[in-house]
Amino acid sequence: MKPLVLFDIDGTLLRTRGAGREAMDDAFLEVHGWKKATEGVHIGGSTDGRICLDVGVKYGATVDVDAVKAAYLVRVAERLEDKTRVEVCPGVFELLDAIGGRAHVALLTGNWESGAAVKLGAAGLWTAFEWGAYAEDAVDRNHLLPIARARARTRGLHHERAVIIGDTPADVACARAGEGHVIAVETGFGDPEELRSMAPDLQVSDLQQGFARVMNFLG
Ligand SMILES: [Mg+2]
Repeated sequence: MKPLVLFDIDGTLLRTRGAGREAMDDAFLEVHGWKKATEGVHIGGSTDGRICLDVGVKYGATVDVDAVKAAYLVRVAERLEDKTRVEVCPGVFELLDAIGGRAHVALLTGNWESGAAVKLGAAGLWTAFEWGAYAEDAVDRNHLLPIARARARTRGLHHERAVIIGDTPADVACARAGEGHVIAVETGFGDPEELRSMAPDLQVSDLQQGFARVMNFLG
């Protein structure tokens, strides 16, 4: 039976050299008048909904999430028009090619779906994914794996093993919370030692260096 392989986006599939955070800051400035609103707020491995809640706590105010989301989407698209800001992580295209017929491939990300589309579109990766679990599905990332599994089943994608590929301790925690497996990559926001301390099933420096081990793990 094919495994369900769920990719995180930021730091796993691609990097945007800070464009995501800048666009979020732009959006909070535009909607609420707050400067550098995400400063001091945990971003890596969070969800866009959770970031909005955390920024609200920081300012002691209620965030207009719909307005921030709308502004963010415009701003992130603008910033990623500069293609030098988008970098696909090493080995991503090769891995997606290699597992295409051998796994059910989808996204599991803290991005809003439309934001995921903008980022992946800028990287030439959007067409590689037909579906996913997104920030709209849950504020807490740890709830996303059961949602992704249920969504796979409704699409007729039968699987026993779900494997998350991600770059932060939050990806490892999310996999454990949903009784899934996890491959940690050191291409993003997670400190390698901290990732190791979370005991992922496999940890690789990047998907190119670790290609053979990742393929072996996926079976
Ligand atoms: Mg990430």
